[in-house]
Amino acid sequence: MEYERERSHLIRSLREQRVSEKTLKAMKKVPRHLFVPPVQLANAYVDTPLPIGYAQTISAPHMVAMMCDLLEIQEGQKILEIGTGSGYNAAVMAEIIGKSGHIYSIERVEKLAIFARENLEKAGYSNVDVIQGDGSLGYPEQAPYDRICVTASAPDTPKPLIEQLKPGGIMVLPEGEGYQRLYIIKKSLSGEVKKKDWGGVIFVPLLGQHGFDLYDNKRGKR
Ligand code: SAM
Repeated sequence: MEYERERSHLIRSLREQRVSEKTLKAMKKVPRHLFVPPVQLANAYVDTPLPIGYAQTISAPHMVAMMCDLLEIQEGQKILEIGTGSGYNAAVMAEIIGKSGHIYSIERVEKLAIFARENLEKAGYSNVDVIQGDGSLGYPEQAPYDRICVTASAPDTPKPLIEQLKPGGIMVLPEGEGYQRLYIIKKSLSGEVKKKDWGGVIFVPLLGQHGFDLYDNKRGKR
């Protein structure tokens, strides 16, 4: 298999960072080199974010791993991802949920939605739908979701995402401008929402109606 040595090296380093065996097993299977632009091939298995064009990035593998672990993803779940980017994070989650689960992933930039669809097809993931649109509104068509993974930083928690999270569900999302925090949001079976601060992170901004404003980076209209 191509890049096997590089991938094994990355998995070893993630294991040292206490990533769960379930997530490592999934990441071992996903060919990250199929999700980066050709100019970045030599860096495909370096644990760092990489540019994918349109001022966006594919997240660092340790960040993907951490979000998957925080989400406590289970086989067969229905997951909403906001910010498809390259499609890599969606592919890792798709490995964990297996063929009985499904991922709906929303990407704002049309050319990236196309890039991600092509990458996911090349890598053989048929349980991921990539939708071009404003993910700050969620995707009510398939709600509610067992898990919601937001991979761009919002000014605060978008209300539609809270509404579209299933009772008993978990969401992870970065919030803040410049200084950002990652939050774990859990909705109890009775609908009570609890938000826990996990720590500091760096993500590109979530742009859109419940995100930052496209042109001046201020909060979007509510
Ligand atoms: N998960 C991606 C991956 O595995 O490559 C990395 C995501 S990148 C850090 C964040 C993505 O969020 C960018 O592709 C950006 O275009 C997208 N984004 C920003 N605002 C968005 C919005 N309102 N709806 C959907 N996507 C958005």
